[in-house]
Amino acid sequence: MSFGGFDLNSDIMYLKGVGPVRAKALNKLGIKTFYDFLTHYPRAYEDQCSITPIDELVLGEVAMVEGHLSNIRVRHVRHKLTVINALLGDDFDYVQLVWFNQEYLAKTLHPGQRLVVKGKVTETYGAGEMYSIQVQTYEVLDEGEDPEEGMFPIYASTGNLKQKFFRTAMHNLLDRMPELEDELPREIVKRHDLMPYDQALRSIHFPFSQYEIDEARHRLAFEELFLIQCGLLMIKKQMQDDQLGIKHEPNGELMAAVLDALPFKLTNDQRSTLEAVTLDMESERPMRRLIQGDVGSGKTAVAMLALVKTVENGNQGVFMAPTEILAVQHYEKFKALLEPLNIRIGLLTGKVTRTKKNREAAYEAIANGKFDIVIGTHALIEDVVEFKQLGLVVTDEQHRFGVTQRAALEKKSERCPDMLVMTATPIPRTMTLTVYGDLDVSQIKELPPGRKPIKTMVKRKASRRRVYEFVMDELDRGRQAYVVCPLVEHSESERLEGVLSAEEVFDELSNGMFSTVDCALLHGKMSSKEKDDVMERFRAGEYRLLVATTVIEVGVDVPNASVMVIEHADRFGLATLHQLRGRVGRGGTESYCILLSDTKSDAGKERLEIMETTSDGFKLAEEDLKLRGPGQFFGEAQHGLPDLKIADVFRDLGLLYEAREAAEKFMRDEKNLAEHADLIKKLSIAYGEKFVSVQNV
Ligand code: ADP
Ligand code: MG
Repeated sequence: MSFGGFDLNSDIMYLKGVGPVRAKALNKLGIKTFYDFLTHYPRAYEDQCSITPIDELVLGEVAMVEGHLSNIRVRHVRHKLTVINALLGDDFDYVQLVWFNQEYLAKTLHPGQRLVVKGKVTETYGAGEMYSIQVQTYEVLDEGEDPEEGMFPIYASTGNLKQKFFRTAMHNLLDRMPELEDELPREIVKRHDLMPYDQALRSIHFPFSQYEIDEARHRLAFEELFLIQCGLLMIKKQMQDDQLGIKHEPNGELMAAVLDALPFKLTNDQRSTLEAVTLDMESERPMRRLIQGDVGSGKTAVAMLALVKTVENGNQGVFMAPTEILAVQHYEKFKALLEPLNIRIGLLTGKVTRTKKNREAAYEAIANGKFDIVIGTHALIEDVVEFKQLGLVVTDEQHRFGVTQRAALEKKSERCPDMLVMTATPIPRTMTLTVYGDLDVSQIKELPPGRKPIKTMVKRKASRRRVYEFVMDELDRGRQAYVVCPLVEHSESERLEGVLSAEEVFDELSNGMFSTVDCALLHGKMSSKEKDDVMERFRAGEYRLLVATTVIEVGVDVPNASVMVIEHADRFGLATLHQLRGRVGRGGTESYCILLSDTKSDAGKERLEIMETTSDGFKLAEEDLKLRGPGQFFGEAQHGLPDLKIADVFRDLGLLYEAREAAEKFMRDEKNLAEHADLIKKLSIAYGEKFVSVQNV
C-alpha cells in the first residue's frame, strides 16, 4: 500500500533512527517493514503520569512537572561530560533541571519557554532546599497548550533496543505517515461503532487515556479478526464454492461389505459423523470437513469408510499421517481389513522413497491407479507424486499440518477432491472458528464401548520408588510402560534446577531397578530413522520400558502398554498431558497414568487434580485455556495460522463472532471484493504467504 510516496511495505532500514544494527535487532523481533513496526503494538503502558506541582515533589520519585524556563547554563564539567542546567518555575516554586551530555539542546532551549518535563527527583548539590530533576523526556509547549499527560507505551524488545528508541522511532514514523484511509467498508465501521483506522493506530501507540486504548484496541482487534476470517472464507470459497468437486454416488455394495467386515458397530457419534461426510461427498461441492475427537475415539475408522466410498466411485483416496510409524500402522490395519475385499492399499513414506527402485515402483502404481488407497507421510506432497484420479484427501493432522500443506495435496487433482481433516487436539468449540474457520466441523465425543478409563493419579516424589515398583509389577505381568520427561539431556536442565532429563532417568532406571529389563530412550534429538527404529521395537515388544520426551505424543498404538509415568508433570500443559495419557489404555486391560510432581504452586496443583478427575479432552482444553491463557495454549498447538497481534480469542470471543459474521456478509457480495481490493491486499501484507500461497495454489 502506498500513500503519496509513503509505503507501508518499506524496509525498516529506511526508518529514521534505524541503521543496520537496529534493523537486525528489529528483524529478530519479526519486524521487517514499516507495517510490521506499526503493528508492533505496545505490550503495556506506563502508568499515567500527571503534573505534580513543584513544591510537592518527592525525592527519589519520577515525576512530571510543568513551568517556565530560565537560567540556562552549559557547563563542561570535565572531558566528555557536559551538563546543562536550567531552572523551571511554576506558580509556587523552582526546580533545577539537569541534562547530561546533550550540548545540542543548548540551541533549542530558551528562557521563557514553557516546558513539561519528566524525570527523577534528586537532591541538588549545594543548593539548599531546591531539588533537581534529571530529565528523561521533555516537551516544549506553546502558551495556552495543555501539557500532554499521556500514557507511555512499553514495547516488547530485545536487550539492546531501548524503550526510548521505540517511542522516538514510532513518533517519527507516525509523523511522516499521511492519514491512512480506512480500508474497512464504511458501513462495517459504522455498524460496529469502530474508531477510524488512522486514529486507532496513532492512539494505540500514544494514547491519552485508558478509554482511548480500549477503543483503539477494539478497532484493531476487530480488523485483525475480520481479516483472518475473510482469509479463511476466501480459502473456503476458492476451494469449495468456486470449484466443481466430485459428486459421489450413494453407497453401494462395497460400502455395505466393508461395514459388514468391521469388527465392531459404529458409535452414535461415528455414525452421525459418517452421515455428514457422506452428504458432503455426495454433493457437487468439494467437502471441507474437520473431524475432531480424542485419541482412540474412532476417527480413523470413519476416515477409512470415507476412503472406501471414494474407491467405490472409481477414485483413489489418500491418507496422510504425521509420522512414518503411524502411516505404517494405518497401512497394516487398512490392508488387513480391505485387501480381502479387493481394495489395493499402497504405502508412500520417506523409507519407501529412499531407494530408487521402491520409489519409482510406488510412483508408478499411484499414477496408473494400481493403488486404490495410498497411505503415507509428507512424501505424498512431493511434486513428482501424481494420482490417476484423486477423490478424497484425508490428513491426520494431529496439529502438524498447516493450511498450506493441505492445499498442496488438493492441487494434485484436476477436479477438486473432497477433503477430510482429523485432529485429536481438543480445541474448545469456541476456538475452532479462528483455527479452522475454513472447515465444517464434526465432533466425536463418545468413546467406543468397552474402554476402561485410564486411572490417573498424582503422586509426590517421595513415593517415586513405590511408583516404579508398581511399574515393575506391570512389566512382570507382561505389560509395557512409558516414562515421560520434560527435557532431553542434562545440559538443558542445568538452569532448571532439579529437573530430571530423559537421559538421566534412562540411566537411572536402566542401570538400577530395571537393569534386568530391556529399556530404550526416545527423544526429539534423535534422527527420524533412530526414532522409528526404537518405536518399532517397542511396538514389537522387544523393549519393555520406554523413556521418552513428548515425541511420543504423536506416537503409535501399543495396546500392550498399560502404564505411563510422567516425571515433573506440572511442567506440561493439560492438553499435552491428555495427549500423552492417550498412549495407554489402548488395549482391553486396566491402565494407569501416574503424574509425579512436587509443585508447590496452587495453579500447578489444580491443573494436575483436573487430570485426575477428567478424561474429557475438550473440557481439559477449556480448563487449560482458563488456567494458562491462550498465548500458551496456542503456542503449543502449532495450528499453522498467523499469530494474533492484538486480538485475544479468549477475551475477544464476542468480537470474534461479530467479525466472523461481518466477514461472511462481506464475502458473500462479489461487488465487495472488487471494490475493496486494497483490503484484500492488506491480507497479504499482514499475513504474507500464510494465505497468499494458498490463494495462488
Ligand atoms: P482415532 O483415529 O480417533 O485415534 P481409531 O479409529 O484409530 O481412533 O480407533 C481406535 C481403536 O478403537 C482402534 O483399534 C479401532 O479399531 C477401535 N474402534 C474404532 N471404532 C470403534 C467402535 N465403534 N467400537 C469398537 N472399537 C472401535
Ligand atoms: Mg488414530
